[in-house]
Amino acid sequence: AKADGTNRWQLFDPARSDREIAKHALAADLAGGIDRDEFFLEYQPLVRLEDRAVIGVEALVRWHHPRHGRLNPGRFIDLAEESGQIVRLGGRLLDKACRQAREWAKLTDSPPYVSVNVAVQQLRDGAGLLRTVDNLLQEVGLAPELLQLEITESASIPDDPQLRRTLDDIAGLGVRLALDDFGSGYSNLGYLQNLPVNQLKIDMQFVRDWKPSSTKSLLPSLVKLAHDLRLSALAEGVETSEQAEYLESIGCDHVQGYYFGKPQAASSITSLLLEWSAEEI
Ligand code: C2E
Ligand code: CA
Ligand code: CA
Ligand code: CA
Repeated sequence: AKADGTNRWQLFDPARSDREIAKHALAADLAGGIDRDEFFLEYQPLVRLEDRAVIGVEALVRWHHPRHGRLNPGRFIDLAEESGQIVRLGGRLLDKACRQAREWAKLTDSPPYVSVNVAVQQLRDGAGLLRTVDNLLQEVGLAPELLQLEITESASIPDDPQLRRTLDDIAGLGVRLALDDFGSGYSNLGYLQNLPVNQLKIDMQFVRDWKPSSTKSLLPSLVKLAHDLRLSALAEGVETSEQAEYLESIGCDHVQGYYFGKPQAASSITSLLLEWSAEEI
């Protein structure tokens, strides 16, 4: 293919046009799917390395689509953002996550916090988000420290006083904040100093690229950066015991990944919690 033919070729790529069609069809289903409550959350363990305790879980959305079956967020989150539906969907998911967190809090003395992904549009709807979270905590009777919001490292946060205020207000409620996918994008390290976050979630690319022989990994620097800022460091995408041991050796606090547990139904997290509390007795 000619270099200057790339665009033309893409235009007629049948796979691509299939994807485009599928995308438009899904976009059209989104609003109704939210009305019909077709979205649900799975929960993935967040593990403290020093004792391998599950101290939290990340809530990850899935769509039970009436015709296409179960869809992962890679298929629809962008669409929800582009159409603005993410604010409504995100509100519903926050509601589900808080209710689930409350159930777990009733079950055990050391319940996991539930960490919910928040899109930048939800943050921009600052007053709305604050009201939603505040009302939910009251209504559900959830201790604020059992809720965490994950915000993606974004170039716009530092320069945007409105966003900063929203984050400060949310932190003021006692809700935890984590910076997601850290290291994957543009980061103005200076702004981290004043951001009211508790945790840096180190992007999984750094774990994936690490080899036992590697001398150039940025993982130790990222962990140190988190600690210098008095934040906890969580490494994402941990799939092997070697990776876990290495991360422990460099002082990484928390991990998340298939090695410790895949995203799973709330009921299977409940079973895990019941097993552990039985062991403690
Ligand atoms: P993320 O927030 O970075 O979530 C981590 C993703 O990595 C999840 O994919 C999870 O299933 C996957 N993962 C976890 N452990 C491993 C591992 O060991 N290896 C590998 N290869 N992958 C692992 P998932 O569930 O498909 O979610 C994809 C993205 O969709 C999320 O990335 C997040 O950006 C977005 N997302 C998910 N749920 C929500 C939500 O409720 N609201 C919003 N706004 N975005 C969401
Ligand atoms: Ca996340
Ligand atoms: Ca992430
Ligand atoms: Ca992500």
